[in-house]
Amino acid sequence: MRTQVAIVGAGPAGLFLGHLLRQAGIDAVVLERRDRAYVEGRVRAGVLEQVTVDLMDRLDLGRRMHREGLVHTGTNIAADGELFRIDMAALTGGASVMVYGQQEVMKDLFDAAEPRGVKVIFDAEDVALHDIDSAKPHVTWRKDGVEQRLDCDVIAGCDGFHGVTRAAIPAGVLKTFERVYPFGWLGVLADVPPCDHELIYCNHERGFALASMRSPTRSRYYLQCGLDEKIEDWSDDRFWDELCLRLGDEAAGRVTRGPSFEKSIAPLRSFVGEPMRHGRLFLAGDAAHIVPPTGAKGMNLAVSDVVMLAEALSEYFLDGSEAGLDGYSARALARVWKAERFSWWFTGLTHRFPDRDGFDRKIQVAELDYIRGSRAAQVTLAENYVGLPLV
Ligand SMILES: Cc1cc2nc3c(=O)[nH]c(=O)nc-3n(C[C@H](O)[C@H](O)[C@H](O)COP(=O)(O)OP(=O)(O)OC[C@H]3O[C@@H](n4cnc5c(N)ncnc54)[C@H](O)[C@@H]3O)c2cc1C
Repeated sequence: MRTQVAIVGAGPAGLFLGHLLRQAGIDAVVLERRDRAYVEGRVRAGVLEQVTVDLMDRLDLGRRMHREGLVHTGTNIAADGELFRIDMAALTGGASVMVYGQQEVMKDLFDAAEPRGVKVIFDAEDVALHDIDSAKPHVTWRKDGVEQRLDCDVIAGCDGFHGVTRAAIPAGVLKTFERVYPFGWLGVLADVPPCDHELIYCNHERGFALASMRSPTRSRYYLQCGLDEKIEDWSDDRFWDELCLRLGDEAAGRVTRGPSFEKSIAPLRSFVGEPMRHGRLFLAGDAAHIVPPTGAKGMNLAVSDVVMLAEALSEYFLDGSEAGLDGYSARALARVWKAERFSWWFTGLTHRFPDRDGFDRKIQVAELDYIRGSRAAQVTLAENYVGLPLV
């Protein structure tokens, strides 16, 4: 088999890139280790920046999102139970975010893939990259016990944090930067109405909490928890009690309790591997970087990467220029590091750090109070939260 671009991974990065290249008339094949139901079923991100909403529209995939998604023009912060609102639209000249689950985005991308000729090969085992330093790289894998080979001009590594493509960059070339946080997020999904029509980020002395949602009838709540905690120790009753404590009386009074149908613990990490290019291999999304979920940047960064990569690949295949490919890593990383900074800062502002003392707590409280009273501080938060422009 031969194609122009071999894309490894059919998560948001890989599938958006597949659609973008198809739209540009560039041939691509997406190789995915799992099956469609598994990829689509993963409960992950839920807040889309304008960049992602625009891309859904540009690919003519946005109809259901505009019908079912929830536009948020503001977000809320609770400091020890006292709520204040950040009016993102007023502070940023009208920008907003869209609440629409990653599962729904994936469903829309997969539904449109076959009719539009976006080729996806599921259940591709043992994907391996070859000759990425040469002008003629290729990818091999096994499917149904049979070895397969795909010759290509370029490989896009869109296979997430635990994929194989980043590891193909020689250790002496790849530089990694990492911060592992001493806590995780215990997340719950329940078919109950959310306690607020917008998100509430809570800093409480017992730890962080987030009130979020997927729809007017489906709530997504998170609690900061220890990394050694076990799901089975968190009954639904214990979760709701702790959530209400951290939210404070005002928001807790509006919480509807109900049985959870998904409960999981995710560790928090900041990570960047650079450069995002080596030879004919280009990394995008979680394959190159991870952010803690505070600030909802993970999937949106995957999207901004592939928008930039698709532009560079179009320049290369359609105009014969390598300038875009040469500049891709630096251009993508400039935006990635700003989102890393914001996610790290917002995590530091809202979480309890077991190794920090009373002084740190006072600084946190002072900063929250400053944000509450300062338009300038709110503008900074809002413009990062809705997503920085693509430059
Ligand atoms: C538990 C959890 C909760 C999250 N919550 C949020 C949130 O609330 N907000 C937010 O913005 N972000 C969140 N994220 C982050 C967000 O989901 C990711 O940033 C986003 O999925 C990145 O997309 P991606 O396509 O780069 O990687 P992925 O979504 O990881 O997709 C990579 C794909 O590659 C496939 N793959 C892996 N290895 C191979 C291989 N060897 N061969 C072939 N295919 C392979 C995988 O099966 C997968 O389908 C969360 C992530 C996790 C894990």
